[in-house]
Amino acid sequence: MNYYSLNKEAADTSFKDAVIKGLAPDKGLYFPESITPLPKSFFDNIDNLSHAEIAFEAIKQFVSPEIPENVLKTIVEETLSFDFPIVKLNDNISTLELFHGPTMAFKDVGARFMARCLGYFNKDNTNEVTVLVATSGDTGGAVANGFLGVKGVNVVILYPSGKVSDIQEMQLTTLGQNIKALEVDGTFDDCQAMVKTAFLDETLTSKMQLTSANSINVARWLPQLFYFMFAYKQLHNTHENIVFSVPSGNFGNVCAGMMAQQLGLPIKHFIASNNENNVVTRYLDSEKYEPKPSVQTISNAMDVGAPSNFIRIQEIYKNNFSALKENISSYSFSDDETREAMLEIFNKYNYVVDPHGAVGYLGSKNYLKDNPNAHCVFLETAHPTKFLDVVEEVIKEKQPLPEQIQSVMGGEKVAISIATYNDLKDFLLS
Ligand SMILES: *Cc1c(COP(=O)(O)O)cnc(C)c1O
Repeated sequence: MNYYSLNKEAADTSFKDAVIKGLAPDKGLYFPESITPLPKSFFDNIDNLSHAEIAFEAIKQFVSPEIPENVLKTIVEETLSFDFPIVKLNDNISTLELFHGPTMAFKDVGARFMARCLGYFNKDNTNEVTVLVATSGDTGGAVANGFLGVKGVNVVILYPSGKVSDIQEMQLTTLGQNIKALEVDGTFDDCQAMVKTAFLDETLTSKMQLTSANSINVARWLPQLFYFMFAYKQLHNTHENIVFSVPSGNFGNVCAGMMAQQLGLPIKHFIASNNENNVVTRYLDSEKYEPKPSVQTISNAMDVGAPSNFIRIQEIYKNNFSALKENISSYSFSDDETREAMLEIFNKYNYVVDPHGAVGYLGSKNYLKDNPNAHCVFLETAHPTKFLDVVEEVIKEKQPLPEQIQSVMGGEKVAISIATYNDLKDFLLS
């Protein structure tokens, strides 16, 4: 598959090149040149397919021929070696638990897939790559875990000091080996800005191959379409009108769901559920796209002022505003509403959600007011114990720590403090 840059000023390139570069030379995001829907028989037969078989069929066109089929089979099997259960709250609302991977957030899927692709491309040790990534919390851990020990790949993670949870910090600072953590005196936006500056800095890029493991990278973004199919497999015999409510920040996840729909998955509608960082909610109301600096909330992985993947969504709908509006609704919720939702779900259904999932739940409830025949699936994007402080304070009950979380507690934090872009540059060149 060839990929083109959405800025349309760079040459088309292969999957391999798109993964290694991350961003096109004109700074545009890469997008696949074509999307061929899967045959109807694939969806009719989905009950008989394993997760790895579904994923293999769904992603094959996007990665061939550079990743041979036998290699791809192994990559998807290894990537997906955990569960993706649906938990039904009531007749109209279910949640898809995406937190059963090693770092307990959905980002494990994309990070593990991308790490294995880069590992394969580097099998002859010819393409040494530095993965440079800014995290608001969950990406760092997932990337650290996914890339640990991958040959020829160095990982540098920038995170905002004091603005990620304790567990998230342990997940990205304790692994060692090829993983380095930089603790930035600043916000997530500052971290992201430093990473962007590095990609543009020719004194760096002439000396090293830098790539990104944020959802701008096609190998991180596309595999996120798998679990929309897994959810469909679990629900299609009992429910019609399946709608996904996706707690959204950079809009990579919801955009991957739209790719699943482009492949033919019968999804009725999407809900982009936002916290108070609501540029897309406002856009769908007003047709005016006005990014603004992010504000800090209790659903911190969605504290994004200028969602990087929204441009891919615009591409899917060919910049047709009414076609987009037909297919996606967006609502925005405050921290107080989010806390109330966490408590409501706990009291009504005896189920504990993290703040991001709670925003997804609220989006589902809003949509159902006008669409009572839908079945809304909100994505539970991280395990509630990743946000232990907020969760225990709201439901007033201690939570047991899962094994994946326990295993990082008590590790030794190793991080280098930086404050400016020059600090980052010195580090990369040393
Ligand atoms: C990253 C993240 C999100 C936002 O996903 P996007 O693809 O950036 O929209 C939501 N919830 C959690 C827990 C996350 O880690």
